[in-house]
Amino acid sequence: MRTQSHHRPPNAGHLGGPLTAVRNLGILAHVDAGKTTVTERILYITGATYKRGEVHEGTTVTDFDPQERDRGITIFAAAVSCVWDGHRINLIDTPGHVDFSDEVERSLRVLDGAVAVFDAVAGVEPQSESVWRRADRHGVPRIAFVNKLDRAGADLDTAVASIRDRLRVTPLVVQMPIGREGSFTGVVDLLRMRALVWADGRDGVEEGPVPEGLREEAARRRRALEEVVAELHPLALEEYCARPAVGAATLASALRDLTRTGEGVVVLCGSAYRNRGIEPLLDAVVAYLPSPLDVPAVHGAYDGAREERPADPAAPLAALVFKVTSAATGRLTYLRLYSGTMRKGDTVLDAGARRTERIARILRVQADRHTEVENAVAGDIVAVAGPKAARAGATLCAPGAPLVLEPPSAADPVVSVA
Ligand code: GDP
Repeated sequence: MRTQSHHRPPNAGHLGGPLTAVRNLGILAHVDAGKTTVTERILYITGATYKRGEVHEGTTVTDFDPQERDRGITIFAAAVSCVWDGHRINLIDTPGHVDFSDEVERSLRVLDGAVAVFDAVAGVEPQSESVWRRADRHGVPRIAFVNKLDRAGADLDTAVASIRDRLRVTPLVVQMPIGREGSFTGVVDLLRMRALVWADGRDGVEEGPVPEGLREEAARRRRALEEVVAELHPLALEEYCARPAVGAATLASALRDLTRTGEGVVVLCGSAYRNRGIEPLLDAVVAYLPSPLDVPAVHGAYDGAREERPADPAAPLAALVFKVTSAATGRLTYLRLYSGTMRKGDTVLDAGARRTERIARILRVQADRHTEVENAVAGDIVAVAGPKAARAGATLCAPGAPLVLEPPSAADPVVSVA
């Protein structure tokens, strides 16, 4: 197989970059499906990218507690930022446990898209079904990652059938596994018709032509994908009727639309544990899941007056507190900014409590460090130090433009197709 790195060069320009290059992402899973391992691998792979790119945007603050430092990365933070292909991905922790109900609701509210992780042997389990339904209620666009393909008894087709039957959603399977169980080594990317293979004991993925013996099956699966997409998407149908086939570019844009309307779910596969499948998963997050600009403006109210707030850095500030943690170094308040800009040193209003708070520091939590930044803008997710009393669920806003963010209505679609 001819080898060629699948990795694209890191783009250092993302950090203060456009909102279209931001993905606020959650990872949803049944306990044990591999959420922690997938998260660790994402941070490991993007961390390597980060170091190669040597991006600096502020002062690095090392204030992790010893347990976190031992593991080397911050998998317990409420939100961790990483960089992939010029995009900033803010990974928001979504508690897998049903007990943390309010916390699940709040984390679903601040993310714009999610990866649902399934176990390739167990398929859709009851808990993954209940988290899926909640994400439906919040209108969170999702892609599916069928993990643990290396396990004995793992089978992508069976897992896909359980996604179709239990979740009642149309699977859009964009990969075909290469090798089964212990000899699962890679996937065929059915859009580009290229083989991606992960070698044991080596980082990174090697790309090459689809092996001879797999070409027929890959072609059959590609055609099946084209047919499903043509059934759901008018542009793909038009192309299918004319040729009859659907090209990769049309497929990609149709998959993006179908993801955002929830009419279908893109399915990828891999083995997080053996580091297989993570790079194409990150590519899919960037390609199919929405940016903060692709989701509708939020609403808020104050003293009876209702107001819409666009994801615009120039609009008055409105930010939602979704988690408060206390580390050895002090209280950290995790925020999603919906509109406006927050600067270090600002005094903001906790509109519900009618109390002001001071933003002493703004931090981006990265895989192995906290980086202090001067400001954060609409669409962003950051941790701030300074607020003393603001609780999870509170709105922090500009004192001159008070607002309490409304919970999204279950009936409102959260996504729109651009
Ligand atoms: P979480 O509970 O969803 O966070 O799941 P974890 O990431 O902790 O994984 C649960 C168990 O599955 C751990 O023992 C992992 O080592 C194992 N695991 C995770 N990913 C894979 C995989 O791709 N293949 C196999 N065989 N085991 C995995």
